[in-house]
Amino acid sequence: CGIFGYLNHLVDVDRKSIIEILLTGLSRLEYRGYDSAGMAIDGDNAQEIQIFKQVGKVAALRKLVDQTAQNTDKVFNQHAAMAHTRWATHGQPSTINSHPQRSNANNEFTVVHNGIITNYKELKTLLMTKGYAFESDTDTEVVAKLAQYLYDSNSPISFIDLVKGVLKELEGAFAFIFKSSHYPNEIIVTRRGSPLLIGLKTTQKLKVDFLDVELPTDVEASGMLAVPNNKPAPRSHSRTFMTENGEQQPIEYFIASDPSAVVEHTKHVLYLEDDDLAHISRGELRIHRLKRDDGLSSFRSIQTLE
Ligand code: GLU
Repeated sequence: CGIFGYLNHLVDVDRKSIIEILLTGLSRLEYRGYDSAGMAIDGDNAQEIQIFKQVGKVAALRKLVDQTAQNTDKVFNQHAAMAHTRWATHGQPSTINSHPQRSNANNEFTVVHNGIITNYKELKTLLMTKGYAFESDTDTEVVAKLAQYLYDSNSPISFIDLVKGVLKELEGAFAFIFKSSHYPNEIIVTRRGSPLLIGLKTTQKLKVDFLDVELPTDVEASGMLAVPNNKPAPRSHSRTFMTENGEQQPIEYFIASDPSAVVEHTKHVLYLEDDDLAHISRGELRIHRLKRDDGLSSFRSIQTLE
């Protein structure tokens, strides 16, 4: 199974190339084993997300996308995309159980997940009593629906607060990418117990070699489905990569379960720790922690792969 994500900012990329980057990324992760594959990309605007998914090999997904993706010449100056290979743990291999999983028929929230949510049954029951209808047998679908529920009951809310609220309810192991039509051109990448890394590619030399992550000081949310309180702003650390003349650098981010899927694009990678949430938005990479200081190092190195 595997996760692959791609986000560009101030770099022109056409839809055909975005699809190709995703399919190639997935094919590099094929050796990990999987039974189905899928991806989510934007329609002609970022308020409308399109999902393609298929049982079988990445080649079968490629065929589906070739036949159905429209307007492949359309160029995006910024765009956030996600892709997945699934090794079914909950729910048989089928199109509906493949990822991305979604919050509703409008694809408002889409999620790719590797791992297992051990408390998904309780969450599913709760969300069903709130009126959310499920279409798959996966544990992952509760994550997309929970994001929708927190959005519906707390909007306006920032994307990071929303995903923190989701994560605080989850037990088990996971690596995730979240994408939403409510937060166009942004993604949140997070993990607990499953590997995930972020590759960074800039046109100019990367000048920083580490990110100094300041641990959040916000009071933890408590209770079922509580949203993190946003009174003292949670601290986090961000990097915006600038040019010599002080302009924002064009940048591309490649998210993957392992380095073999990003090394053809960039050698600069940052490994996420458990309960790190990386929010990538408008070229900026910001790393948040889910909880107060838990003794983890506050540094995240950008490493150079061999
Ligand atoms: N537990 C999830 C599912 O069965 C994700 C499986 C995976 O890691 O690919 O859909």
